[in-house]
Amino acid sequence: MRAPLTLLLLALSVSGWGQVADTLSRADSLKGGVPDVIPDAFQTDAAAFREGKGVAMDTLDIADGRLLLVLKDDHTWYYIKNFKLLEEEDVFRDHWTVKTTDPYRIPLDSLPLHNTILLVDSTSTFVCPNQTKVFSKFGYRHGRRHQGVDLPLKTGKPVVAAFDGRVRVSEYHSGYGNLIVLRHENGLETFYGHLSKRDVEVGDWVRAGDQIGLGGSTGRSTGPHLHFETRYKGFAFDPEWIADYEKGELRSNVFVLRRSYLDASSHYVPQSLDEEEDVYAADEKIVAEEKRIAAEKAAMRYHTVKSGDTLGSIAKRYGKSLSTIQKLNPGVNSNKLRIGQKIRVN
Ligand SMILES: [Zn+2]
Repeated sequence: MRAPLTLLLLALSVSGWGQVADTLSRADSLKGGVPDVIPDAFQTDAAAFREGKGVAMDTLDIADGRLLLVLKDDHTWYYIKNFKLLEEEDVFRDHWTVKTTDPYRIPLDSLPLHNTILLVDSTSTFVCPNQTKVFSKFGYRHGRRHQGVDLPLKTGKPVVAAFDGRVRVSEYHSGYGNLIVLRHENGLETFYGHLSKRDVEVGDWVRAGDQIGLGGSTGRSTGPHLHFETRYKGFAFDPEWIADYEKGELRSNVFVLRRSYLDASSHYVPQSLDEEEDVYAADEKIVAEEKRIAAEKAAMRYHTVKSGDTLGSIAKRYGKSLSTIQKLNPGVNSNKLRIGQKIRVN
């Protein structure tokens, strides 16, 4: 299996390719016309470069052909992704279904306590799906879970993709109304609900900023707004953890998703260091407990039963009382020891 593209891009950034490219904004990257030097496999992506000036002179395959470096006649360049190859990445294959809003259905404790998620990289950016003050926040509201934020917008106003990604769901849903779900390379999914019109179909690739639909009030909605969700492995977390929707900006390029955020009562806490410390302290307690259990497991010693062994003889051999050995091995019958059986001795 190949390394995920995001990892590879991190490596590129470290090696220096990315450093220059990082300084190019999306606007810069869109200035290149899309010329005939772009191979077919990249053409799905090429629409994004139709406008603007500058001529692409040459291309360079990097990252096993997963990225194409396009060199322009004005001595600038940009990366484009090969979506055809991205389709083969695990993230776009595993739990990929076009219907359900949560295709994962996994227990929360199967997720890591912390997960570092690269939100944008040298080839991608964030575009606020609808820049405005958050009207209704994430969390419990009149006893009901509100899994996203409500961003008011007029019916018919464009809604754009927050990140590059692939359309996993494009359907009418009784609650969400017209719903688009995008899956992104980092495993996050973004949900766009109550649209009056859907402009993309399942399987389409979109770039951040591409129009995916129009604002509306379809489904269970009391007025025109965009219901926007961010999810990881099916679990919604407060979209305000990653971005400031009023400013239209990401809070950071890298996001540490804590398991504790995947709780409906976990709100983004602006500028409150105390709260942040509480979250850290709670996580540290869990980490310490897990470490203690792991250390205890690592320290366990076992005796392998040989012919003639009894629990009493094993206890004697390891300098323990019979009752200690019995407590360490609940359910083990001294009269029925099997040769090769493992008996815990500390
Ligand atoms: Zn909502």
